[in-house]
Amino acid sequence: MTYDAHRIPVTVVPDRTLRVKIIDACGLACTFCHNEGTPVAADNLGRTAAEFTGGPGRTGRVSLYLRTNRAAFLPRRIEADADFALALAAVRGSLPTDEVHFTGGEPTLHPDLPALIDIAHRLGLTVGVTSNGENGAAILPECAAAGLDRINLSVFGTTPEELAAVQAPRLASPDRAARKLAALGATIEAASRHGVKVAANIVVPNVAHVERVLRVIEEHGHRVVVRMLVSLEDDGASLAAMREVVERLGAVPEQHVLTAGTSDQRTRYRLPDGRPLYAKSIRPVRLPATCAGCRFNNDQDCQEGFYGVRLYRAQDGPFMVGVCIQRMDLCVPLGEFVMSRLCREVADFRDGEADRLVALHGAPAPATAPP
Ligand code: SF4
Repeated sequence: MTYDAHRIPVTVVPDRTLRVKIIDACGLACTFCHNEGTPVAADNLGRTAAEFTGGPGRTGRVSLYLRTNRAAFLPRRIEADADFALALAAVRGSLPTDEVHFTGGEPTLHPDLPALIDIAHRLGLTVGVTSNGENGAAILPECAAAGLDRINLSVFGTTPEELAAVQAPRLASPDRAARKLAALGATIEAASRHGVKVAANIVVPNVAHVERVLRVIEEHGHRVVVRMLVSLEDDGASLAAMREVVERLGAVPEQHVLTAGTSDQRTRYRLPDGRPLYAKSIRPVRLPATCAGCRFNNDQDCQEGFYGVRLYRAQDGPFMVGVCIQRMDLCVPLGEFVMSRLCREVADFRDGEADRLVALHGAPAPATAPP
């Protein structure tokens, strides 16, 4: 762990998560969106793969890696039906999976989000959602009843100006941003009322953002767990900024959590009033065979590292499985994936990394869920 020099306990958690892109639509147009590696569907309808663009198009939305990731399909909304249940069961049958995490687009805009949660929950999976919070108040009560465990909210700031500053010009009015912030607050309220765990994720690009992050922690930290995220384009500035936040708040490091088999790692801090604060960063994790010949396999170009497995539904096509949003050309149909060497490589890598990290850090035997 390079983020903090303190010697603190290390916990190793094997990755057992499947990220599922359930919808492409989104009511925001953030300038840094990777859209889970897929083209913005509404802006690319009727185009061939060679004609896909990463935007901004009519919607103002972007897909950050599209210029180079060779994505070859448009994402389609995943319906809450037997096909979806079978797809989840197929992934779980080939790759140990305890948890699904719904992404988008914006999952709370999916009209059948509660039914999708219900399907996954009935299969015995823990269900999480990553959201900008724009429609949570309306849909969360039903989601909670269907078994939603947690919602990770992307938070950009505490003022309309801060949110508007990271939106496409077409959607950057402070009035609109104020409505979105109010919706985010209502989502936090609804989640808390219905027993859904809430985390606020805030990306910290550099020290110029420290005051903004401190305001988010001040405003939301009493109701939600705040997680600072390293910027994927980090050149050291992002980690330095997170360190400054920690120092300014007098937070004390308590634990490093390493997710074995993905690039995810986090440090848990305790604030002076006892609240937790997390700092998430990226380990330079690579799949041993698949990444070996990758054109981006270097410190500058491979921004996310191997972050785990993602499930998509292609328009007019099958469920697709991907292992990297920068290399969407590695996506394969689900039926092919479950029989593939790639699937075995991921499974073996997860187990091997868990053993290696436990031995390296003298950590206790892997827990099965993040503390
Ligand atoms: S994680 Fe692997 S496949 Fe993805 S960009 Fe990095 S080296 Fe390439």
